[in-house]
Amino acid sequence: MIVREIKCRQAITKCGFPGGGWAINPYVGCGHGCVYCYARFIKRFTGHTEEWGKFIDVRVNAPEILAKQIKSPKYQTGNIYLGTVTDPYQPLEGKYRITRKILEVLKDYPVRVSILTKSKLVLRDLDLLLQMKEADVSFTVNSLDDEWRKRTEPFASSVGERLEAAKSLIQKGIKVDVMLGPYWPYFTEAEMLVQKFKETGVSHLFSESFNAIGGNWNGVEKVLKRNYSELFLKMRNIILNPQEFDVFYKTAGENLCRVCQKYDLPVTTYFGSGHAGKKFTRKNQKTMPRAGVEPARGLSLTGF
Ligand code: SF4
Repeated sequence: MIVREIKCRQAITKCGFPGGGWAINPYVGCGHGCVYCYARFIKRFTGHTEEWGKFIDVRVNAPEILAKQIKSPKYQTGNIYLGTVTDPYQPLEGKYRITRKILEVLKDYPVRVSILTKSKLVLRDLDLLLQMKEADVSFTVNSLDDEWRKRTEPFASSVGERLEAAKSLIQKGIKVDVMLGPYWPYFTEAEMLVQKFKETGVSHLFSESFNAIGGNWNGVEKVLKRNYSELFLKMRNIILNPQEFDVFYKTAGENLCRVCQKYDLPVTTYFGSGHAGKKFTRKNQKTMPRAGVEPARGLSLTGF
């Protein structure tokens, strides 16, 4: 892993999520190493030629720059998403504490902060989250199968650790949502997951289909060929054949909504090819049965 300490000129920027708002990314790159990571597209904008997952730029002055930027009232309206193209609690955060320093700045302003992560390390900053005007945390969990997790999200917290962390935050009064994404053929056990999320006490379930553009499929293909050869062709057919894709995700979406209705868990789905959130939210909300669906608040571009 190549780690560089860099200086940034801007710490907070416009967020590309459907609901707008602002984004803060303490790092460029991510050490969780998810094979399907959607954030790899930022290599094009940052001049990185290394393989995704093999480099991390630590934006060491981000808290200092943020302290100046956040004084502008424009940044104090709309949601601030912490970690849209990186995980703010990836392993290096244990050493650098950039995310923690960012929260120390934000806690003095009337802002709403949403943290997107796959790490239990977020618990470290509970003291700061409790001082925020508004803060919520979203964990990504897409399967209860920890072997699948180890192969596809090798350096993230285990599924059990994420659920435990979610429970601890909820018990302390922090709102926690869950992103069931990507929703995988064969590996996403919808009903068991929803049951677990409900027991954990999460407020809302968001789910998205897999987005195969930009090389996101290549790493998944390698994992399948190496470890699940019997599923490889079937899964590839669902993901890469548009007709099969539509059939699978239509059925999966209907099933997920039915299950969420059964467990009384509000759900929003972003199922469709390409950039699922932008293209298909409205259509899905018209055509799919939903359990307490609210308007989309945001979408993880990174698979969070
Ligand atoms: S999907 Fe999220 S947690 Fe995984 S490597 Fe990408 S940015 Fe990191």
